[in-house]
Amino acid sequence: MTEQRKAVALISGGLDSMLAARVVMDQGVQVEGINFFTGFCVEGHTHAIRKKDRDRVKRNNALWVAEQLGIKLHIVDVIEEYKDVVINPKHGYGAHLNPCLDCKIFMVHKALEWTQANGFDFIITGEVIGQRPKSQRRETMPVVARESGADDRLLRPLCARNLPPTLPEREGWVDRERLHDFSGRSRKPQMALAAQFGFKDYAQPAGGCCFLTDEQYSVKLADLWKTRGTRRYELDDIMLLKVGRHLRPRPHFKLIVGREEGENRFLEGYRKQFTHFRPVSHNGPLVLLDGEAGEEDLELAARLTARYSQGRSADSVRVEVTDRAGASRLLDVTPLPAASVPREWHL
Ligand code: SF4
Repeated sequence: MTEQRKAVALISGGLDSMLAARVVMDQGVQVEGINFFTGFCVEGHTHAIRKKDRDRVKRNNALWVAEQLGIKLHIVDVIEEYKDVVINPKHGYGAHLNPCLDCKIFMVHKALEWTQANGFDFIITGEVIGQRPKSQRRETMPVVARESGADDRLLRPLCARNLPPTLPEREGWVDRERLHDFSGRSRKPQMALAAQFGFKDYAQPAGGCCFLTDEQYSVKLADLWKTRGTRRYELDDIMLLKVGRHLRPRPHFKLIVGREEGENRFLEGYRKQFTHFRPVSHNGPLVLLDGEAGEEDLELAARLTARYSQGRSADSVRVEVTDRAGASRLLDVTPLPAASVPREWHL
């Protein structure tokens, strides 16, 4: 009897990796999934916070995919190691602060380490030549294989027939003829294959699998690095960039304004780390102040808090200001008129 081969599939939660895993499973290979938690993932958390998303199904798409496929999923925390990928990408960024090529290399490398530690034979990704302008081009395919160290233990079942045969194909662990030759940006072949497998209700991420492909998010991250004078971040920093309206009225401080109930509640969890504001005469947002602020700055922040409260048209709004030590006081302020909030303040 021939030995059953084992492969680990990188599962992002999107359709391509789901199909890639399934194609290989159908050839009798034992497949398990691996998903890396970087802190920038779009999944779950923001949808869980926002009230407007409350009716949407909240699911971790990677877990959902694993469940659909009936495979084990290993979720690996790579927050610390991933920082170097975001901060110093050797191959540079995509349209925003997304280091996609370095990210792919990093993830395949981590998957390779995992296969070595767990006695697996090869790695599967859902990459398709030409699908993404930066990271999934014909020229980048060998770069990912080489620089990750995976070399020809990296199989891309959706476009394998457009690439040189890999070890699993040469050794007959999988039949190359039953792999695919997808290429280009069209999603039609993937959708047809999904229909063939009977997959419905899969996630269709628009830009990419993480917040780094989002223009506004990247602007906020760049602002964080610039104002701190160093390209570093902690998990809390990147979580807070996902939530609220971010305004920088002065170079030395910015405000994070909850846009609705769910966000206010999320920001509550951070209030001991920041001076914060809350209107008490009217309903309104919880506002965190990130940076250093003098008396005039506190007044400006209170007026902005009032501006985003239900008292925005009132003559005066009472705002409670609480410092990091927990000492509170009340300020009666005139809400800042919309015309006095320049566009440049919005990050
Ligand atoms: S979109 Fe984000 S997670 Fe996906 S490859 Fe690019 S940097 Fe990595």
